[in-house]
Amino acid sequence: MSMIRITILAACSFLLLVTLDLDTVSAREPYWEEHHIELSGLTEEQVLGLESTINQLRSLEPGELKINRSLHGRLSRFKELFGFPFNGKDLSGWLLARIRSISYQNTWTVAVNQNQGSFMVGDFFFTKTTPLEKLYALIHEARHSDNDGYKHIRCPDGFKYISSRQPEMDLEQEAACDANDQGAYSFQAAFLFELFAYGLLDQGEAGLLYNSSISRVVPPK
Ligand SMILES: [Zn+2]
Repeated sequence: MSMIRITILAACSFLLLVTLDLDTVSAREPYWEEHHIELSGLTEEQVLGLESTINQLRSLEPGELKINRSLHGRLSRFKELFGFPFNGKDLSGWLLARIRSISYQNTWTVAVNQNQGSFMVGDFFFTKTTPLEKLYALIHEARHSDNDGYKHIRCPDGFKYISSRQPEMDLEQEAACDANDQGAYSFQAAFLFELFAYGLLDQGEAGLLYNSSISRVVPPK
């Protein structure tokens, strides 16, 4: 008798779990399905965090320039690199098209793309980064989905810059630079430059991060 009751109870709780799961899945943003992106190992809270990051990206609109027009003309590379003028709607589409899956994995870095769109994010991404850092990290990783992945090179001998977020690291020893101006650091920098130029999110942070990102682009002399 009690055995039957336990079985019924187990079946009920299973149904309850399935129902809850269906509820949460249907509450998710439609773009995961539209872009066939598989989410795995992430808590509901982490999925919501990712969604708010992508929604924030999507809501970016250039508005009025907050820097000198000639400076913008000289340093802006967004359109040349991404293939469309800076705007959050197209940019979020560009990002989502380069993600096949996002899984939870604790890594020392903010996010990893194992090439061809397998993204991994860990606690560092969810708890230790600003909204702006989340955005540029995803854009950086997305560029690794293109072509041969645009692998980094070791930063040159005598490299004068530091990683402010990873103080234990000596960049002279790390594959944390790009040999040409088409790689992930250039895309990250081009995005940050537009945020700075239009005064979006945190203009000061965007400016500092732009300087830091562009320092990683070291074409051979
Ligand atoms: Zn990279």
